[in-house]
Amino acid sequence: MITLEADLHTHTVASGHAYSTIKENAEAANFKNLKILAMTDHAPAMPGSANILHFGNLRALPRYINNVMILRGVELNVLDTQGSVDFPEMFFGRNLLARMDWVIASLHENILTPEPGFDYTGLYIAIAENPAVDLIGHPDTPAFSFDIEEVVKAFKANNKIVELNEHHAFETSEQSRINAKKIMKACAKHGVYISVNSDAHTCWDVGRHKQAVKMLEEIKFPEELIFNAKASRVLDYLFKKHPTLKDELNNF
Ligand SMILES: [Zn+2]
Ligand SMILES: [Zn+2]
Repeated sequence: MITLEADLHTHTVASGHAYSTIKENAEAANFKNLKILAMTDHAPAMPGSANILHFGNLRALPRYINNVMILRGVELNVLDTQGSVDFPEMFFGRNLLARMDWVIASLHENILTPEPGFDYTGLYIAIAENPAVDLIGHPDTPAFSFDIEEVVKAFKANNKIVELNEHHAFETSEQSRINAKKIMKACAKHGVYISVNSDAHTCWDVGRHKQAVKMLEEIKFPEELIFNAKASRVLDYLFKKHPTLKDELNNF
């Protein structure tokens, strides 16, 4: 039985089209026995979402709310077929993107209009090669198809984590579910970490992962490659990426 200790993709009111606060999301995460919650509001290109100051000021948040560790994250929008993203690297003279705890990069059809018949392999490889990105968000969109073998090999080579998104893979289209299953099988074959996330836009959806877990159990996905099955796995990764984070948590 697969259990999860972190939800690494959630939205708050700051996204503009989500409905709960970070306090409400953290309470829900605690209720569901999660140890880590990533707050990943949409980056500025999403209409109505937070502006850059929201991300620049995330350190105003406590490190723990209701005994749940809060990761200061963002869901970037991919803007073009070169893999450009909607986040300035420098903010008041600092590399803000590199300082974020947790960075998701996702393709959204309202931001990047899909071109019928276009092969998105090159775009996904460009995202794989972006050192700021941790997690590839919901890569199952049928309109953005790519060579799964080639792309998953690039994710492996660049130490990327691939998302199985409870909402996107199971509640948008049958083809998304089919694509997600193929991608998960390729990740198992190539030893690529995956992360099962809710993409919650309300506190009631935080920690929701039933359909994703059922699929992973069906295909006998190896537990050791489920990144957020263990909080310690997430922390080991973060401490390598951010050497000062361990001290910051100890001193909190
Ligand atoms: Zn998204
Ligand atoms: Zn999202």
